[in-house]
Amino acid sequence: MNLGYLLENAAARHFHRVAAFDEKRKVTFGQLNERANRLGNALIALGLQPQSRIASLQYNGIETIEFDVMAAKFGYVRALLNARNSVAEHIDSLNLVQARLLVFGAEFIQQVDEIRGAVPTLEFCICIGGSTTWAAEYEAVLSRAAAAPATHVVNENDWHSIYFTSGTTGKPKGIVLSQRNWLAVVRNHLVDTYAKSDTSDVLLHAAPMSHASGSLTFAHLARGVPQTFLKRFDAATTLDTFERDDVTTIWLAPTMWSKMVELMDGKDRNLSTLRSIRFGGAPISVPRLRDAVERWGPRFCSGWGQWEAPQQCTFFTQEQIGAAVAARDDRRLASAGVPMTYCRIATADADGTILPRGEEGEIVVTGDHVMVGYLDQPEATAELRIGEWQRTGDIGRIDEEGFLYLTDRKRDIILSGGSNIFPRQIEEVLYAHPAVLEVVAVGIPDNTWGETIHAVVVPRDGATADSAALLDWCRDRLPSNKRPRSVEFVQDLPKNTYGKILRREVRARYWTAQERQI
Ligand code: AMP
Repeated sequence: MNLGYLLENAAARHFHRVAAFDEKRKVTFGQLNERANRLGNALIALGLQPQSRIASLQYNGIETIEFDVMAAKFGYVRALLNARNSVAEHIDSLNLVQARLLVFGAEFIQQVDEIRGAVPTLEFCICIGGSTTWAAEYEAVLSRAAAAPATHVVNENDWHSIYFTSGTTGKPKGIVLSQRNWLAVVRNHLVDTYAKSDTSDVLLHAAPMSHASGSLTFAHLARGVPQTFLKRFDAATTLDTFERDDVTTIWLAPTMWSKMVELMDGKDRNLSTLRSIRFGGAPISVPRLRDAVERWGPRFCSGWGQWEAPQQCTFFTQEQIGAAVAARDDRRLASAGVPMTYCRIATADADGTILPRGEEGEIVVTGDHVMVGYLDQPEATAELRIGEWQRTGDIGRIDEEGFLYLTDRKRDIILSGGSNIFPRQIEEVLYAHPAVLEVVAVGIPDNTWGETIHAVVVPRDGATADSAALLDWCRDRLPSNKRPRSVEFVQDLPKNTYGKILRREVRARYWTAQERQI
């Protein structure tokens, strides 16, 4: 089996249905399959072979799906660059991947012109929706190529893609995923997260498809669900698109989700078509989630995962979240859900011994979705492996019913007065305060305690920045060793281009590199 067959089967079942659409165009499943074949054959004609490494630099759009389907069917190893990254980051990514070909949107002509001289492996550039002397034109390339499917066999163990660690904690590494890994991702989505999806659904990609949103593509193709796009996330446009295109399902990072919640306050919006708003990639505050479910109904689901074990290892359903809200069970609401059908999770101690159920430790995972390894970094890969298990760097606990509770990232722990303090617990308390929009708690140097807790807060619009009030709030709700000693107000927190708060950058302002390994 390989992903290509899965996509061909989708085309056979839904040939005349719309697979992808935007404001100007509609592409049916039959057309998508044919256009993907044409692109794949065109690359062969250029001299690329199966397993050649290729990349794309585009905003979300129909061609993002065509590129993805083509690479899966023809067995090229693809990387999706994040359109919001800088030229220097693109150069690093392309050199890391050693890409031979880049398909890019016309908006990036100038950037790619800078990039191409700095990536020695890059032989071919194809431009979508524009032309330049040094790149082939996408539609012309497709029109010249054969529409027949690939004649070579793509195997489950073939590499499928290279992703990048999110860079919230260091320089990105390449994460190699195989066809087998992706078949497992799709299987998990089909049996769990999107078990009820059907042709009446509409998926909106508002977050970058180079990250989690893009991982939903194949399962939705398999189910015959049309997909539509925003070039880049914007809360107001996302809400408008929900209404305009009868969107039923979406993936959002918690920071994006928060912006939408803020914007909807007091506004009359019709969300009646929306069945699932999935969020993940970072913790979400319990009071926020409860509030949203109370106002909009049980439409929210979440999951926990990472690119090293994509894209979800656990799933917390709309029904489970709705039931926790109805029962006012905030403990359960803080959960990241239960394992996906084809994934096992456990906790392990520092030596790698698997712990009994209920004991807090590093979360380890196993399943067919667990990555091949870090690109060209066998030692870094080996450090993660404990037999069949892979370490995740996240600390947590699994309760007697099998629900996972994340405590924090291992490297985010604050070390104060000899205790290990998890910032998430402090942030949860601060998020419950009405003046707080976003918050990060970090350990800052202290001669007596080693580190003390410092909270960096973005206030809500119109709220007064009053640090004494926030310290009082914490005094009533946290034990003395877990209370922040200082609060600072800022306009914005640093975030990566996927909307994740860059805790490391916040923390680094208070430390020199020698003082703390961050
Ligand atoms: P990435 O590989 O960029 O997707 O980042 C994965 C990391 O994001 C995980 O190891 C977690 O630390 C964090 N993460 C992912 N999902 C969740 C979630 N639902 N709640 C809390 N943290 C999460």
